[in-house]
Amino acid sequence: MKLHPSIHVFERGWLSSNNVLLFGRHDVAMIDSGYVSHKQQTLDLVRHALRGRHLDRLYNTHLHSDHCGGNAALQAHFGCDTFIPEAEAEKVRHWDDDALSFKATGQQCERFSIDGVVTPGDSLVLGDLEWQALGAPGHHAHSLIYYCPSEKVLVSADALWQNGFGVIFPELEGDEGFAEAGATLDVIAGLDVKVVIPGHGAVFEDVQAALSRARRRLDFLSADPKRNAEYAVKVLLKFLLLERQSMPVAAVGPLLASIPLMDTIGRKYFGMNPDELAAWAIKQLVRACSARVDNDILLNDG
Ligand SMILES: [Zn+2]
Repeated sequence: MKLHPSIHVFERGWLSSNNVLLFGRHDVAMIDSGYVSHKQQTLDLVRHALRGRHLDRLYNTHLHSDHCGGNAALQAHFGCDTFIPEAEAEKVRHWDDDALSFKATGQQCERFSIDGVVTPGDSLVLGDLEWQALGAPGHHAHSLIYYCPSEKVLVSADALWQNGFGVIFPELEGDEGFAEAGATLDVIAGLDVKVVIPGHGAVFEDVQAALSRARRRLDFLSADPKRNAEYAVKVLLKFLLLERQSMPVAAVGPLLASIPLMDTIGRKYFGMNPDELAAWAIKQLVRACSARVDNDILLNDG
């Protein structure tokens, strides 16, 4: 995969998003910082790649905990200036737990500060290359993606993966997201892209095939919104399991009950209480080989 030498990608996993380091002659910028429980690993990766240089600027594509959970640690270590999508700025300045996504999804994020915002349509110089910030609603209403025209590289966050995209959360929060996700795929299709750096998974080149898969997936989900809710429950439980690695089966229901979005989804889309939803979700993860049950303990797998 040929990337400009100033672009370094750390492929992480599902608990932490990928990180992109952009080396310029005079400063170094980074896009997305991973999940909080991986903050030491993130710091080690960044310090190793910097070879004594300093991280000057940090950008988040969107404020989900797996993309901004390392912000506080990076700020504490480097004092880097931090830039986020403009629509999220007030929520972060006041650390509004009810408006930010972390509490609603049962995820953690250390409080961080911001030094500026990015608006869709902005042009930025990152690592001496010119990048365009584009609005990419769908998975998250205020997500940005970053496109470098000279290198034909797209940092696609969770709007487009090699195989699909992130849960359409706005649909579950009482807003709309399917049409927006489709419009975002149209925006990407209109760009001349050679290499995609997704929020999760390996860097890839065949954008057209990924767009086709994403459109089929979006058609499938939007045909019956319960499918997006099922996807969300599985992803959120898997995330909890990745974070904890194991938990008693009996603890899963109460845990889901304590997570506002899970509780809402369970009642609205499944007509289930948290214990029933937990039983359903555990069965799905076990069937997909991404969890197993041993002596009444749910274990991460796959
Ligand atoms: Zn996300």
